[in-house]
Amino acid sequence: MATAEQPFPTQARAVIIGGGIVGCSLAYHLTRMGWTDVVLLEQGRLSSGTTWHAAGLVGQLRSQRSLTRLIRYSTELYARLEAETGLATGWRRCGSISVARTPERMTLLRRQIASARAQGVDIEEMAPREAGKRWPLMRTDDLCGAVWIPGDGKANPADITQALARGARMKGARIVEKTRVTGIRIEGGVVKAVDTDRGAILCEAAAICAGQWSRELGRRVGVTIPLHSAEHMYIVTGRMEGAHPDLPVLRDPDGYVYFKEEVGGLVMGGFEPDAKPWGMAGIPDDFEFQLLPDDWDQFEPLMRGALQRVPALEHAEIKTFLNGPESFTPDANFILGPAPGLRGLFVGAGFNSMGIASAGGAGRHLAEWMVEGEPSADLWAVDIRRFAPFNGNRRWLHDRVKETLGLHYAMPWPNRELDSARPARRSPLHDRLAARGAVFGSKMGWERALFFAPEGASCEVGYGFGRGAWFGPAAEEHRAAREGVALFDVTSFAKLLLQGPDAEAVLQRLCAADMAVPVGRSVYTPLLNARGGIESDLTVARIGAEEFLILTGTAQATRDADWIRRAMSGDARAVLTDVTSAWSVLALSGPRSRDVLQHAGAEGIGNAELPFGGFRMVDVGYASALACRRSYTGELGFEIYIPTEFALSAHDALVEAGSAFGLRHAGYAALDSLRVEKGYRAWGRDIGPDDTPWEAGLGFAVALDKGCDFTGRAALAATRDAPLRRRLVSLFAEAPNGPLAWGGESLLRDGAPVGDVTSAAFGHTLGGIVALAWVRAEEAIDQAWLDARPLRLDIGGDSVPVRASLRPFHDPKGLRMRA
Ligand SMILES: Cc1cc2nc3c(=O)[nH]c(=O)nc-3n(C[C@H](O)[C@H](O)[C@H](O)COP(=O)(O)OP(=O)(O)OC[C@H]3O[C@@H](n4cnc5c(N)ncnc54)[C@H](O)[C@@H]3O)c2cc1C
Repeated sequence: MATAEQPFPTQARAVIIGGGIVGCSLAYHLTRMGWTDVVLLEQGRLSSGTTWHAAGLVGQLRSQRSLTRLIRYSTELYARLEAETGLATGWRRCGSISVARTPERMTLLRRQIASARAQGVDIEEMAPREAGKRWPLMRTDDLCGAVWIPGDGKANPADITQALARGARMKGARIVEKTRVTGIRIEGGVVKAVDTDRGAILCEAAAICAGQWSRELGRRVGVTIPLHSAEHMYIVTGRMEGAHPDLPVLRDPDGYVYFKEEVGGLVMGGFEPDAKPWGMAGIPDDFEFQLLPDDWDQFEPLMRGALQRVPALEHAEIKTFLNGPESFTPDANFILGPAPGLRGLFVGAGFNSMGIASAGGAGRHLAEWMVEGEPSADLWAVDIRRFAPFNGNRRWLHDRVKETLGLHYAMPWPNRELDSARPARRSPLHDRLAARGAVFGSKMGWERALFFAPEGASCEVGYGFGRGAWFGPAAEEHRAAREGVALFDVTSFAKLLLQGPDAEAVLQRLCAADMAVPVGRSVYTPLLNARGGIESDLTVARIGAEEFLILTGTAQATRDADWIRRAMSGDARAVLTDVTSAWSVLALSGPRSRDVLQHAGAEGIGNAELPFGGFRMVDVGYASALACRRSYTGELGFEIYIPTEFALSAHDALVEAGSAFGLRHAGYAALDSLRVEKGYRAWGRDIGPDDTPWEAGLGFAVALDKGCDFTGRAALAATRDAPLRRRLVSLFAEAPNGPLAWGGESLLRDGAPVGDVTSAAFGHTLGGIVALAWVRAEEAIDQAWLDARPLRLDIGGDSVPVRASLRPFHDPKGLRMRA
């Protein structure tokens, strides 16, 4: 607390709101990066929100590489913090065991082994009996197998928080408890001060690290922080024979439970499939070192799972039932980064019961974001800008977190869809597509057709690692798009309109390609950061002298708009508007697509009048629409932008015209296999902020000599002729009946991991697995290097021979889309 000698601060470079483990980690890292004039404000006492009652498990392996790296950093930090600060953290590298009850879970564990090894995480497969030797209290006769991760551990959350706080204080940070932030003052879109119940603190930057209170703090300044509390429970037993301090953490996801040793007994908790949201009427300010009432009914599925795994629990003394609220988010990943649309405001919240494991790395990256303007790693998976305002809708969030808590231990099928809080956003064509058998998935709230089930067939997605119900229909839709004509509803694409006399100049400064094109042309371009990494890739259509329509990924509207607005200087005469809802988009693909569009009313769409990359206004039925000669399939194709209210009539006109040409409706399963076969990169999946266009094989979209500077140009110019030791390549495995790849698989050369797959699908034209993969080597990678030694894919333990190429295996010269 502020003392008589230390009056309450009135000014600081940065103010951190919240003294849980995340706020304290941020303070620690900011001071390490040279921002020593930092004040951390906590309404109660340090760790008194959620942190104090966490179980303290720290497991490194995550589905995204960047998050695995982030947690590995946490483990390194926690291991050294005591020596640095003199405060114990309870960190113990006791290792962890995860067990599989089913063959499918074992397949998953084997896939994780391959991916962990490729990331340098020490990991071993174990037979059930071996696992039982390490964990004698466990029943093993019903298990298929297990994995052992020696580097995992456990820690005391409150002690780590205190150690981080002391580390921050040692470098000059002020930590002020019993002080509540009542508001954040913003002027002209810039943070000016933080108001508290003890007065205001003027500041250049503020960070909301206020745990479950964060959503409300954000809402007051118009920032969507989509998190919702849910009750989260564990029990602590009395002493049990066989429980000792070095007992590994045990996870049994099929039974929804985990175990760790504590004071000679066991902590047992888990993640039930149907969670219990809490705090619908708001989170009380004075919820300090508090808990919620026991709820044995809600805990029952966990208890059942636990008794099966550790039968001795039946007779154990239950010393504590602990029920505390924790924040969960719509996709079970946490929320980090700059608040979109504002300068100087940052967020680190919504930790989905991974806050102890993640806090070290999250605090470090958030500090980088604040001090250096961007983090040193690709953090798209947790970037606050992956959300839109609708994600903050309270009812939507409430319904969604009932499901997301359970995702921790649910089978993460590669084609798994979330069931809750749907439908939320629908294309005008939704009912038309449903009537034709569309089976929908969802992305960013949009319902999108995955495939069209034949009449009488199952309308289930068919989760699994193999060929589900989707496979047959997707194959036919794929062939239609290559050989005849297919129609995709891609209305969910995000669309931004940039208008004004300086629109071209703004884009020229931001984009790697030359944007000074005539009206009627579209350009594919990366957006780069200062390191030359790809922050987004856009298709930009110049629809007027001072007007550009920007097309980007379904999930990227908030992030790309924020990136563009941040880069526009205050006096730029240009305005950016999100026009996603104004346009429906239909993609016609295939050699007969021009015929169909012509029969629907379009004129002047021959190769001479409308070459590849061009666009023009055309008639489609009664609608006037913008037809753009582009495709995401690699075939002759048109993306047709139709004012939303005309979407139905334009669709019907295309279907009527298409009947003579065998037009087929097609969904995202086919689209994905078409684009991977053609080697088209998807931002956020194949490419991101850590990858340059040279490495990503997108050098064709960079115009170093366009006559003006652009963000990332210097970095690209400096590396133009440097040898490429990591490259994104296309893979093809001719295995028509073999296992399927889904992404995340390891690429092996002489048995050693040299890369990993980002996107994979079955290529129905080529007849085997098609994929995109990052390859890494000590020496320069070129086609000769790729051909020099046999390569294999590790698919859940199956080793499949594969070929790699710098160019796509399908139509490498790109002749078909220019037909
Ligand atoms: C039962 C349970 C078990 C868990 N087990 C694990 C585990 O094993 N491993 C793991 O990694 N994670 C676990 N977690 C999750 C972990 O506890 C959280 O993710 C983590 O503590 C979140 O930290 P935080 O700093 O974001 O939030 P908090 O600890 O809640 O800190 C936020 C702080 O902000 C303060 N604050 C809020 N509003 C204001 C304001 N207006 N002004 C000033 N201060 C304010 C609050 O008082 C609070 O102290 C568990 C959680 C629960 C509930």
